[in-house]
Amino acid sequence: MKSTFFSKLVNNPFQDPVLYVRFRRDKDSAMFDCGDIRSLSMREIQKLSDIFITHMHVDHFIGFDNILRCLLNRAAPLHIYGPKGIIEAVGHKLMGYTWNLIKEYPLRIEVSEIRRDNILRAGFYATEGFSKIDAPATPFNKIIMVKSGLTVEAEVFDHGIEVLGFSLYEETQININKAMLLERGLSPGPWLNELKKAVRSAIKEAQFTIANKIYQLDELRSLTMITKGQKITYITDISPTEENIQKAVALAMNADTLYIEAFFLAQDIERAQRRNHLCTTHTGKIAQSANVRDVTITHISPKYIDMYDILSDEVKEARLLAGV
Ligand SMILES: [Zn+2]
Ligand SMILES: [Zn+2]
Repeated sequence: MKSTFFSKLVNNPFQDPVLYVRFRRDKDSAMFDCGDIRSLSMREIQKLSDIFITHMHVDHFIGFDNILRCLLNRAAPLHIYGPKGIIEAVGHKLMGYTWNLIKEYPLRIEVSEIRRDNILRAGFYATEGFSKIDAPATPFNKIIMVKSGLTVEAEVFDHGIEVLGFSLYEETQININKAMLLERGLSPGPWLNELKKAVRSAIKEAQFTIANKIYQLDELRSLTMITKGQKITYITDISPTEENIQKAVALAMNADTLYIEAFFLAQDIERAQRRNHLCTTHTGKIAQSANVRDVTITHISPKYIDMYDILSDEVKEARLLAGV
């Protein structure tokens, strides 16, 4: 099955971590963190519909102004999801400019602030001079966005402050094997959708009537082809605490690609603890425990600028060791 999205890191691993995701179906895009985005084209920025911010340290949020400027004249809203304080932070960014000439601009910014047990919401609209308009809060149960068969899940981590990590995944696809359908002489009809639903919900028994004949679920199950959807996870700037590591493993479980920081070398583990970042040992351990297919490391301290291979090998080694 062709995946419905593809993802790329915008910068090299020593620069600000920014993950750009293009959705094929809707022709729009999402982004995880918005630090330095100077290498993105205007076209790429203008496609952004959803931005997920881990936290508002400057290396993760300084690109917001560029995005704002590129989208001012756009009719489609911009959704921003971020941790505790994001509504205030977006409000302050907007208040840093004068907006007396933009009342006819269509841009609407919808902000969701993910707290440990609820999601606060507010809107900032050009027509209102970007003053804050509060919207009702909703409970937080990990899932923060669902659209066009895609889901984004968030987790709250500790980094001295609250930080979010995210997973984006496609629904499992259930397709019908048409050749087998023909071979068995079964005529297509609404029962095919019922069959897909039954397989998706993993129920054990169900009956289907096809051309006045009754079939059991088990007789028809082999007509379906199940394809697991793609999953990516983005985790950066988390303290190497046991609680954080367990949460990271759960969030990244079985991901196809885990984008994750490896801020420090293994030998600098104490520094990692003091500075609330992961070192390569933690990164490898999380990747192994979460059974991810690929790990892409990002957000490496620039002091190791010539040492990418060493860091990457340390992550691989830590992964192997954790698997023993
Ligand atoms: Zn950072
Ligand atoms: Zn940070």
